[in-house]
Amino acid sequence: MPGLDNLNVMARDERSVTPQSEDFAAWYNDVVFRAGLVDRWPVRGSMVIRPYGYRIWELLQADLDGRIKATGHQNAYFPLLIPQSFMEREAEHVEGFAPEFFTVTHAGGKELEEPLVVRPTSETVVGEMMAKWISSHRDLPLLLNQWANVLRWEMRPRMFLRTSEFLWQEGHTAHASADDAVAETMLALGLYQDVAVQMAAMGTVPGEKTPRERFAGAERTFTIEAMMRDGRALQAGTSHFMGTKFAAAFGITYTSESGTEELCQTTSWGMSTRMVGGIIMTHGDDKGLVLPPALAPCQVVIVPIGRGNQAEAAVSAAVELAARLQLAGIRTHVDSRPQMSPGFKFNDWEMRGVPIRLELGQRELAAGTALMSRRLTYPDPGIAAKQAIPLDAAPELLAGELAAFQAMLTRRAADFRDDHTAVVDTWPEFIAAVAVGWALALNCGDEACEDEIKAETTASPRCIPFAGEPEQGPCIRCGKPSAYGKRVIFGRAY
Ligand SMILES: [Zn+2]
Repeated sequence: MPGLDNLNVMARDERSVTPQSEDFAAWYNDVVFRAGLVDRWPVRGSMVIRPYGYRIWELLQADLDGRIKATGHQNAYFPLLIPQSFMEREAEHVEGFAPEFFTVTHAGGKELEEPLVVRPTSETVVGEMMAKWISSHRDLPLLLNQWANVLRWEMRPRMFLRTSEFLWQEGHTAHASADDAVAETMLALGLYQDVAVQMAAMGTVPGEKTPRERFAGAERTFTIEAMMRDGRALQAGTSHFMGTKFAAAFGITYTSESGTEELCQTTSWGMSTRMVGGIIMTHGDDKGLVLPPALAPCQVVIVPIGRGNQAEAAVSAAVELAARLQLAGIRTHVDSRPQMSPGFKFNDWEMRGVPIRLELGQRELAAGTALMSRRLTYPDPGIAAKQAIPLDAAPELLAGELAAFQAMLTRRAADFRDDHTAVVDTWPEFIAAVAVGWALALNCGDEACEDEIKAETTASPRCIPFAGEPEQGPCIRCGKPSAYGKRVIFGRAY
């Protein structure tokens, strides 16, 4: 099948990965390379996404794109290069992004009159065009999205999580009222929450960012924060209410029904290839990747077993079975590499995170069955043992197994998040909680206090969860009255 390109590379590298418990960062690095997701590139912060890794992104992208279109947004494409003066029009925006700019100063062998910034995000480009395209209240809302790459200089790059160049979608919308614009940011966040939970099977918490963690130039930033298997938080998708800041900077105005000239209220929102890193760190284990079936390039792998004539019979039976599974919409691959042992193949597909493996040998063929193994089971690890399934009913049976596997991963991630989130009221409890996961704590909201917390624990405020009950009390760190009216999630973050 397409996407499984590097079987020979895998064959040369049979070492297992660093155990998660020993060094999570080393485990992650081992997995992204050995599962064939990425390769290196000599430009700092860049990565090559190999077909197996790109297919995961494509599956996520297709799903999210469908949701974006179903809610009335239209895709467009805006230019990569932005005149530097455009970036400077919104003061907070340029201040936030300037340290990460890639700037083109020469083209065609000559120095440019005005440097061009390679887009780190496209508010300024889209803002300029919105000003042109919107004149009346009848033009609103304007609901745009683009799929693109962006560049932000990255000091400490990590594959998928922090790369200077990454792929994403960015939604940009303009509205007549602030209420409509806030509702739009919530709608976008809901799309992200659905993709993260239903497709990526992540344990996420939707909420609002504290003022300091806001997007540069935003009035309010909303986020979904996902817990990784080392207890750290990953910001998996964000949605920003800009108010009239960009409208004022770019002249995005409309004539109201009563004939007055008004500034538009704008939003932007993005989800990126960082999600692939999130999937790896949410589900993976010491055997390698574990992929949710909804985003797995290969959902079922069939390994024919046997030598000589027996092998031929097993391979042809496997090919026939794979065709029936494909017809039923199950992404299936037959591993008929003659030079590899079954044991090697089993390890290989475990490393690549394929949810279900089928073995087809002489005994199974005679009985009209295949031996099924699941990549992972939860909460009972025992039921991973091989189980014979009838070939006749395989498509329906496996469709059910894949749905169950997806639901199992979702539950496992949610349980892990809940087991590693503690409501804390004392500083020692806080320290203990953020060492292994998240702390739900009251905080005064002062920047100096946040700095102290970060300096001592490396934890920062991740979000004010929507689900939290109203609560007031002393700050976990300094004892001053709490801000936000709710508990805040603190955690170490990617
Ligand atoms: Zn405080």
